[in-house]
Amino acid sequence: MTNGNFASDFDDKFTKYTKYCIMDKQVKNYVDKFMAELIAKNPGEKEFHQAVSEVVESVAPYILQNPYLLDQKIMERIVEPERVIMFRVPWMDDKGEIHVNRGFRVQMNSAIGPYKGGVRFHSSVNLSIMKFLAFEQTFKNSLTTLPMGGAKGGSDFSPRGKSDAEVMRFCQSFINELYRHIGPDTDVPAGDIGVGGREVGFMFGQYKKLKNEWTGTYTGKGQCWGGSLLRPEATGYGACYFAQDMLATRGKSFKGQTVVISGSGNVAQYAAEKAMRLGAKVVTFSDSNGYIYDPEGMTEEKIAYVKNLKNVIRGRIKEYVKQYPNAKYFEGERPWGVKCDIAMPCATQNEIELKDAEKLVANGCYCVTEGANMPTTPDAIALFQKNKMLYSPGKASNAGGVSTSGLEMSQNSMRLKWTAEEVDEKLHRIMSDIHAACVKYGTEEDGYINYVKGANIAGFIKVANAMCEQGLV
Ligand code: NDP
Repeated sequence: MTNGNFASDFDDKFTKYTKYCIMDKQVKNYVDKFMAELIAKNPGEKEFHQAVSEVVESVAPYILQNPYLLDQKIMERIVEPERVIMFRVPWMDDKGEIHVNRGFRVQMNSAIGPYKGGVRFHSSVNLSIMKFLAFEQTFKNSLTTLPMGGAKGGSDFSPRGKSDAEVMRFCQSFINELYRHIGPDTDVPAGDIGVGGREVGFMFGQYKKLKNEWTGTYTGKGQCWGGSLLRPEATGYGACYFAQDMLATRGKSFKGQTVVISGSGNVAQYAAEKAMRLGAKVVTFSDSNGYIYDPEGMTEEKIAYVKNLKNVIRGRIKEYVKQYPNAKYFEGERPWGVKCDIAMPCATQNEIELKDAEKLVANGCYCVTEGANMPTTPDAIALFQKNKMLYSPGKASNAGGVSTSGLEMSQNSMRLKWTAEEVDEKLHRIMSDIHAACVKYGTEEDGYINYVKGANIAGFIKVANAMCEQGLV
């Protein structure tokens, strides 16, 4: 067996691969066999299969060029979580009735740093969704250039319609088990769908009580108790910074462009805010019931209204049209039929299917930047790429959130707080570095930048190299 330090000659081998593209059949055989085994071993986990398939297709040519990685069974090891914790979360509602939910934490990979990844509270949460998110997180965190491993957690509990007291009791029960598996140098959770500042506060409070110590074990904390400035804004802002770099490759910018955004939660709100401030006209928001179309575009006042509606009143997006009667609400529909230049899916996985992608293409959309995780189905991605559109996968363009979580961890360890300008400057630089890595590893022979390939390969190299250097553990 040779030494595992293969990354040094990566560029040479990569160039050879892209130049001669010698092994199409071999690659297909490898991917087919690998996926057949993965599906047999993890039956029914369709989101996990989808996420793995996308990565394996990108990195297979390189693995086949490096027999050492084949010997090391590096892909077989990367797709197997280091640890999966599943647990009972019992809680009592305000009427005294008992409910039982299921809690999860998938600790996927700790090769390059402590486990790091959000917690999702949504009725759809299951093991497949947790594993796909933890798997994606591993490569995303690698792309950020910061030392963070990959994890994800959550529960099939939905905070929607629950009182603050019920949410608090649920969060406390969730932590009563999870606290023994997390810590500042072990695993640092954060927010995701259904988990914002309120939920992070309740979980952190219970964690602190049980451990009797104040550490930066959660990120996305409140501003007066260890939270980083700009963490709430970071995912949406970061997606716009990434899109700016993509647009610049075609001599374009947000200025004067029409932007369609899905979701109306954390990522959507700040993606809309930044896109608008960069000169775009943002015309939609959505939630799981439908979308609003505002032909006049968002303003600071309208975005402040949406933030209050979703984060404070906890209402539904359809209420927007009562406040702004020139807007229209479309029940049960997604916003992808609205004519736009740039689309930013910021709600959930698989929310752009082939039929939606066809509408976007037909309407002249030329840039899709993902704020959500895996919002586009594989056939829709293929259509975007066939049309040579600018298309970035979430693991690259939504990495601003976890990057700023990494910056929050640094600030907590150093016991200091950076200004918003300092954090923004670091976030901007990280997003540009991720973009540059995608360009480096994703540029095709005809000059088209395949951001999927670029992000997967750049994310993979670091994790695989670290795993090889650390031996068979
Ligand atoms: P929020 O809970 O704040 O908002 C989620 C939004 O998406 C809500 O508007 C919600 O509507 C909508 N939504 C959720 N599920 C569905 C569904 N099945 N169909 C249609 N709409 C749906 O979550 P975030 O904004 O934090 O997260 C959004 C996405 O971004 C997720 O994919 C998340 O993994 C990803 N992400 C988030 C990061 C962060 O820092 N927060 C970091 C990186 C990625 P409703 O109110 O009806 O549920």
